[in-house]
Amino acid sequence: MNLASWVARNGRRLGDRPALAEGARVTATWTGFAARVAGGAAGFRAMGLEPGDRVAIVMANCPAYLEVQHAAWHAGLVAVPVNARLHRDEVAFILANSGTRVVVTDDAHAADVESLLGEVPSLEAVVRAPGPQWDELRARDPLPLADRGRDDPAWLFYTSGTTGRPKGATLTHGNLLMASLSYFADIDPVAATDSVLHAAPLSHGSGLYGLPHVARGAVSVFPTGSPMDGAELLELTRAWPGLSFFAAPIMVKRLAADPALVDAGPSGLAGLKTIIYGGAPMYLADLEDALATFGPRLAQIYGQGETPMTITGLSKADHADTGHPRWRERVQGVGFPRTDVEVRVVDEDDRELPAGEVGEVVVRGGVVMSGYWEQPDASAETLRGGWLHTGDVGSFDDDGFLTLRDRSKDLIISGGMNIYPREVEEALLCHPGVAAVAVVGRPDPEWGEAVVAFVVADGDEPPTDELDRTCLDRIARFKRPKEYRFVASLPTNNYGKVLKRELRELL
Ligand code: AMP
Repeated sequence: MNLASWVARNGRRLGDRPALAEGARVTATWTGFAARVAGGAAGFRAMGLEPGDRVAIVMANCPAYLEVQHAAWHAGLVAVPVNARLHRDEVAFILANSGTRVVVTDDAHAADVESLLGEVPSLEAVVRAPGPQWDELRARDPLPLADRGRDDPAWLFYTSGTTGRPKGATLTHGNLLMASLSYFADIDPVAATDSVLHAAPLSHGSGLYGLPHVARGAVSVFPTGSPMDGAELLELTRAWPGLSFFAAPIMVKRLAADPALVDAGPSGLAGLKTIIYGGAPMYLADLEDALATFGPRLAQIYGQGETPMTITGLSKADHADTGHPRWRERVQGVGFPRTDVEVRVVDEDDRELPAGEVGEVVVRGGVVMSGYWEQPDASAETLRGGWLHTGDVGSFDDDGFLTLRDRSKDLIISGGMNIYPREVEEALLCHPGVAAVAVVGRPDPEWGEAVVAFVVADGDEPPTDELDRTCLDRIARFKRPKEYRFVASLPTNNYGKVLKRELRELL
């Protein structure tokens, strides 16, 4: 089962129907998309790439992204979609860790990526897409579809992990097939007349939820505005009725308050099918605003890269069931287990806990990653006993609905992006004026959470613009603290472990 078979099949079945679009403009029919994918696959092979080799994608969203990704699969290669907002050195780590041989990148990221040739040992070539280089590569005679088994890796999904070093969750063709089937089972059926809008990064949720749409022959639509505003969304629901998209809660919040969409209201958004939100907590007040603007077109998902966005879900029907006595509690939780997984809450010894008791959320099923790429110890630890240990802490209610209470990994989610404090702490510790540091998230009405650094100075307090610069030189801009607080010492427990809870309480 090769995921790229969906494109090949739709190329034959759907012919001149639209496959890819930018705004209202069609950029490829299914015949054209399938030809570019099979041609691009031949291009990759001509570069010497063999099935199982890794091709990374460092690109902003655009139609060519999907061509590259499916061409890689068609040729039997493993795609490594990299968050295009990462710092150059973070990208370098991912390329080296995955043993990437070829990177496909756009003009905006080319200078950084090309500078890694010679620095990342495995890296042999950089291809630019979209543009003449990709056009030439994809114009080749079609390569026959490579045979792939369900257990063959398809997508290395890099997550930051608690150690600060990203880990590549190895998602197989079988994992992504299960995630796509589970979308049909729990979120929505999809028809060839539907469309999916990629308003969020393809390297994350939007890419994952794009797959069931590609499978069914729906159109993949790319907004032209960055970021997409309400007026554009409204236009797109008219150009492409049956439109669904994935959005982090912060984006849902922004769009729900957009005057164009508020004016249109639920009845003016007839072409909007579903907004799938998740990846971070959605606050009740924001959800109520979103339901007022969009109507009952919201579905929530809870997942992580290790089980590609498929653990629990809260359907559109659950959102619409406002008369239910426990509606408020339910929409503040993350829903109930998806059809293809088993979900448990366990104690420290991995014993299952009854409803009402709080413990770590663990998951088992066909969607769970095969492991972390070339990190056997981390894989064994996370997948111990055959269950994926999510690092999330939660509890079930008597009806089987899950609510998340905390994140045992101290993850900060700001603007829909995951930030692991350790990465920021390590960057700040590179400044000679920083003796110790602890980074935590503070609730923030705009960003969901904002990064705050508690700094113990070594001598005089270093100026905050220098601390900013220290971060910007090492990590992505969005990870930089929004606030610095200087303290005489950090609260620690008997083992010398910083008590982050106490710091959060200070905020
Ligand atoms: P990632 O692997 O980047 O997708 O991040 C996954 C993490 O985001 C999960 O382990 C949760 O901590 C958090 N998360 C995902 N979905 C939700 C949700 N619906 N509500 C609250 N937190 C979520």
